[in-house]
Amino acid sequence: MSSTARSEELFARAKRVSPGGVHSPVRAFKGVGGTPRFIREASGAYLVDVDGNRYVDFCMSWGPLLFGHQDPEVHEAAVKAMSRGWSYGAAEEGSLELAEWITSRLPWVQKVRFVNSGTEAVMSALRVARGATGRRLVLKFEGCYHGHVDSMLVKAGSGLAEMVTPDSAGVSLTVAAETLVARLDDENQAREWFATRGREIAAVILEPLPANNGLLLQRDAFLRKVVDLARERGALVIFDEVISGFRVALGGMAEKLGIRPDLVTYGKVIGGGFPVGAYGGRADLMDLVAPAGPVYQAGTLSANPVAMAAGLATLRKLESVSPYASLEEGTRRFADGMEQAARARGISDFRVQRYGSLFWPVLGDVSSREGVVRSVQGIPARQKERFARLFHALLDRGVYLAPSGFEVGFFSTAHDAPALDRANTAFAAAVEVLKS
Ligand SMILES: *Cc1c(COP(=O)(O)O)cnc(C)c1O
Repeated sequence: MSSTARSEELFARAKRVSPGGVHSPVRAFKGVGGTPRFIREASGAYLVDVDGNRYVDFCMSWGPLLFGHQDPEVHEAAVKAMSRGWSYGAAEEGSLELAEWITSRLPWVQKVRFVNSGTEAVMSALRVARGATGRRLVLKFEGCYHGHVDSMLVKAGSGLAEMVTPDSAGVSLTVAAETLVARLDDENQAREWFATRGREIAAVILEPLPANNGLLLQRDAFLRKVVDLARERGALVIFDEVISGFRVALGGMAEKLGIRPDLVTYGKVIGGGFPVGAYGGRADLMDLVAPAGPVYQAGTLSANPVAMAAGLATLRKLESVSPYASLEEGTRRFADGMEQAARARGISDFRVQRYGSLFWPVLGDVSSREGVVRSVQGIPARQKERFARLFHALLDRGVYLAPSGFEVGFFSTAHDAPALDRANTAFAAAVEVLKS
């Protein structure tokens, strides 16, 4: 096994000065155990840690890097923007170009506002929804992640009648009580919420492709039903496309499904690896935002010119290259290869759920008749423990998955034949650890 001495030393130091040694919890390897690798540099499909170990990276900064690390065009655009200064706190052209680019291609985004993260985008979109409808409640789905917005850090009570409770210390009961939680893949529960509380619901928010608690593939009919229910009751529909936006198609899931959300949130790919979030939608709703309207929202570093340039270079490249079919094909081949390698070793309870360039290893028997995990309840009981073993067996062999069995893998255009050969060889050996 390769040395991890330097990572261990740095992690010990980091724990003394930062909570858990990290600046976002999942980086700490709590879900898989062991010492997180400190990364020194990254290029293409590879990460290199401070001990000099090289990994094929399927975490890809958790999604933004659809073209891999240090894409030359994004690099050039960012450096060029930076050579003129890196923050003006004033109107500038980069954000105008990016906003025009987006609004001219995504018909459901008539107006857009840039922020610094997906969390901020969600927080702001919810504020607009409440401001527009004068209603108080938001309906969300268990297993969908919407950033660390207070009102979204909640969990369902055991029955429909039971109160939603905070899922984090520090979230007040009052705020938690403004969110309703329903199960994914369950039209009846959503219908019941709208029947009983419909007049109070400002918006329903969902990841149309839930990808933050496993990859919970939804039936089209379910998504359409939720949208119809909201519309019947005068609630707005917010698609949280922070992961899926620009990744599964230029227009994300809204394009794939042919559904026009009232409001939509973006992040990750939209900034090409720089901190950018965005919320947008119907012009009449977005015109409620300050200074055009009464819903306040602001940001000192919003629409940072370097980040805007990186985002625009990324989206332009996405349009000119249109990598979606080849990303999906590459992901399919990689996933099929893993399943075959597992089967060849007599491991029958390994499957990969995937959509576009996202994939998620499912480790355990799936009880549903069709064999697809569509809700939190359907995730195999041993997922966490089995994933931890697979994760470390792969890490030791130079493959870096997102360090949690509930996170998805991210394929990129940088995952070329040599990188995939290396990953396949590593997997064929690593999968042995799932034998028991
Ligand atoms: C990542 C993510 C967020 C939060 O975005 P941050 O930039 O981490 O604040 C919100 N919603 C979804 C669907 C996400 O995947």
